[in-house]
Amino acid sequence: MGKNDDTELLKGVHIFDSTLRDGAQGEGISFSVQDKLNIVRALDGLGVAFIEAGNPGSNPKDLEFFGEVSKLKLENSRLVAFGSTRRKDIAVAEDPNLQSLLSAGTEYVAIFGKTWDFHVTEILRATKEENLSMIEDTIRYLVAEGRKVIYDAEHFFDAYLANSAYAMETLRAAASGGAAMLALCDTNGGTMPDDVQRITALVAGELGVPVGIHCHNDAGLAVANSIMAVKAGATQVQGTLIGIGERTGNANLSTIIADLELKLGIPCLPKGKIASLTHVARQVAETANLSLDGGMPYVGLNSFAHKAGMHIDAVTKNPKAYEHVAPDSVGNERSFLMSEVAGRSMIIEKIRKFDPNIQKDSPVAAQIVARVKELEHGGYQFEGAEGSFELLVRKNIGKYRPFFDLHYYKIIGEQPLDGVSATSFAQIKIGVEGEMAITAGEGDGPVHALDVALRKALERFYPGVKEIRLTDFKVRVLDSQSATAAKVRVLIESTDGNHVWSTVGVSSDLIEASWLALVDSFEYKLISDVEKRFKAYL
Ligand SMILES: [Zn+2]
Repeated sequence: MGKNDDTELLKGVHIFDSTLRDGAQGEGISFSVQDKLNIVRALDGLGVAFIEAGNPGSNPKDLEFFGEVSKLKLENSRLVAFGSTRRKDIAVAEDPNLQSLLSAGTEYVAIFGKTWDFHVTEILRATKEENLSMIEDTIRYLVAEGRKVIYDAEHFFDAYLANSAYAMETLRAAASGGAAMLALCDTNGGTMPDDVQRITALVAGELGVPVGIHCHNDAGLAVANSIMAVKAGATQVQGTLIGIGERTGNANLSTIIADLELKLGIPCLPKGKIASLTHVARQVAETANLSLDGGMPYVGLNSFAHKAGMHIDAVTKNPKAYEHVAPDSVGNERSFLMSEVAGRSMIIEKIRKFDPNIQKDSPVAAQIVARVKELEHGGYQFEGAEGSFELLVRKNIGKYRPFFDLHYYKIIGEQPLDGVSATSFAQIKIGVEGEMAITAGEGDGPVHALDVALRKALERFYPGVKEIRLTDFKVRVLDSQSATAAKVRVLIESTDGNHVWSTVGVSSDLIEASWLALVDSFEYKLISDVEKRFKAYL
């Protein structure tokens, strides 16, 4: 899209992602400059229209980021620098924040200002008139400097409900300053969908400027409110791709995008891009160092996972039976959770992924069913351990080869004198096609140390292991009904940035159980890489 079709762009429904600005306010989120660049690339690939990325004046990291990001060639997205209206009692050209905003050199800037008279007089301690001129001056100045301004009306809905006349005056001030878009914000996140719809409908069209929506999720309604606003005429939806943000988060754009495109038939991404939604959501989670909620609509690991036997039976006959949309429409996959109730037909379905010709009554199917039952009896559970289950199937149908032999591993625990952190060391010896590798690793705890050592040993032979990152580690002590020693079950979740898989290990020894899960995780990745390469030659 060239610069000339911006008028069209602002008319059609489009997405404004604020992962790097509002999302960065989320608990435990801290983006490096490199992280931010990765997220910008990912969001541009998905095709969001706007990426909001903070203010270069707010800290040196952001200054460096704006320097670097200007070198990227973005195909779909426009970068937006963010700031507030000028300070009171200061001329607009003398406000240092606005100067730093301009230094970002972006075509678009987002400016937030006060809408609620209570905030103006009690928090900002300005007069209502002063606030109006702060809004209008700031926008007029930025427009004169060649910027297109998206105006964020903070607390818009609360403000409107408290004093609709003043709230509308603030929007009029923004419009007469030359704002290109007025974004109505549910900053406290507590507005109900019918209010959002009613108020947005009143505003849209009233001022001759397109209207956007910016919702927070404090009442669990950010997605619903965003959808209602679009139905009422909003054309820009602001939020964060996986819903991260302060408190309960921002509107989850991955859900909204799929809802708009698949349920309402309203395009908001370039054609076909929705098929990469799951992939990009996982990339963003990965960069944010978060494990994506398995139950997240459309993009979660369990969004299309079926468990109960009857459901699985129905879904394998016709997916529509228990699926509201096709998993591949958003780039996700159907999966079947393992459990004893699920039964044989699901196991067969799994096997067919590797060997489509396998029949229900084939001996190998019976063999796998028997093996699963045996392992379940021993404490295994393949639910949430798809990776290990795939390996089990492969081993039984001859689609597996070992990647290394373990000679030994050794763990040494160390309690440092400061008593703060426990360090562990692992030593490992493996063989790959006759060649030996002996490595050592240090980590917080034995599993981490083993992971480091095994990775080092394998990297030489299989560079793909560098991409593996363990994202979750769960230990469950199984109460022993028999007289034998209690067992532990370890579940590991791993990712390579593209895929997420989980593996399981069970033993009476925690380290041994962790080792089994770890080896499955590495083997799963290596075997998938080999298959990908093999397919590339076909
Ligand atoms: Zn916000």
